[in-house]
Amino acid sequence: MERVYNFSPGPSMMPLPVLEKIKDQLPLYEATGMSVMEMSHRSNMYLDIIQDAEARLRKLMHIPESYAVLFLHGGATMQFASVPLNLSVKGQADYIDSGNFAHGAAGEAAKYLKVNIVASSREDNYTYIPDWEGKLSAEADYLHITTNNTIYGTHFTKLPEGNAHLVADMSSNILGEVYDVNKFGVIYAGAQKNIGPAGLCVLIVRKDLMGKASPLCPKLLNWATQAENDSMINTPNTFAIYAAGLCMAWLQEQGGVEAIEKVNQEKAALVYDYLDNSKLFKATALKEHRSIMNIPFITGDKEKDAAFIKFAAAKGLVNLKGHRSVGGMRASMYNAMPMEGAKALVEAMKAFELNG
Ligand SMILES: *Cc1c(COP(=O)(O)O)cnc(C)c1O
Repeated sequence: MERVYNFSPGPSMMPLPVLEKIKDQLPLYEATGMSVMEMSHRSNMYLDIIQDAEARLRKLMHIPESYAVLFLHGGATMQFASVPLNLSVKGQADYIDSGNFAHGAAGEAAKYLKVNIVASSREDNYTYIPDWEGKLSAEADYLHITTNNTIYGTHFTKLPEGNAHLVADMSSNILGEVYDVNKFGVIYAGAQKNIGPAGLCVLIVRKDLMGKASPLCPKLLNWATQAENDSMINTPNTFAIYAAGLCMAWLQEQGGVEAIEKVNQEKAALVYDYLDNSKLFKATALKEHRSIMNIPFITGDKEKDAAFIKFAAAKGLVNLKGHRSVGGMRASMYNAMPMEGAKALVEAMKAFELNG
């Protein structure tokens, strides 16, 4: 059997050269005589691996020394609680409710501080990024956004500016689009979309924002304590960090985030172009806010949607079923999805539209 084009929203495709390298190194990592999975996380050989991953991420995102990089547990979702537990001083925060994950982040934060939903597109099924201009609170400790809304296929085309520190859940477009880290207080991302395997969360935090955590904050969630311990208060997800480092090396070989963003834009343009001219399929997100990573689309007829998903799967294009809250299809095309995958999807839509 051949490898398929996997349009899954996450866990998602990883670059084949990375998977092959993992396979090569699996029983015997370099001159260590063992697998990465068998190494002590405190050994020098493993320290090289985690430090290498951090150095690559710093290069790829141009992360200044004034920011700490942490490798944490619990995916992005754990940070929904960690963010308020680490940042609450005045006891309130602004949230822009631009999708289900944003909504979940606000709900979790409301256990620990007062949450102001300053803008929301929930009533319109999150088909656009709601307008926050003039609505931000003066007293907020931070403003939380979700830069790319994985389920609804929208992204922020400009960043909010204000007094509060900007905190971003960047799970589904980190390393896929260029961002200026200096504009953020905190960036966090679950790894399974654009960084590597699941079960790992990468957190980038400006150092002056650490050290203010609530006394009730569990130590594993305390960024300052994690930073003091080089993300090793306890055993980190050693294997996922290793694999993430390989993905980052691969991305550097592709020319970095600047180069892959262009490819991501081309892949997305190809698919949106087809959708905009199709009589059968149509994209669901507002044109101005369209994501370049996740593209939800529908025919408007549930049976046709199901038939297309089956038709595409038979051609090796899998996991195109949309999230239940949008229906239809969703094509998630992160960094590891090659241009050929986007082309194959357009060909499949064409063929389906022609022959019914
Ligand atoms: C996938 C996703 C999450 C959840 O990530 P986990 O690692 O499963 O906790 C949160 N936010 C966004 C934007 C996502 O795309």
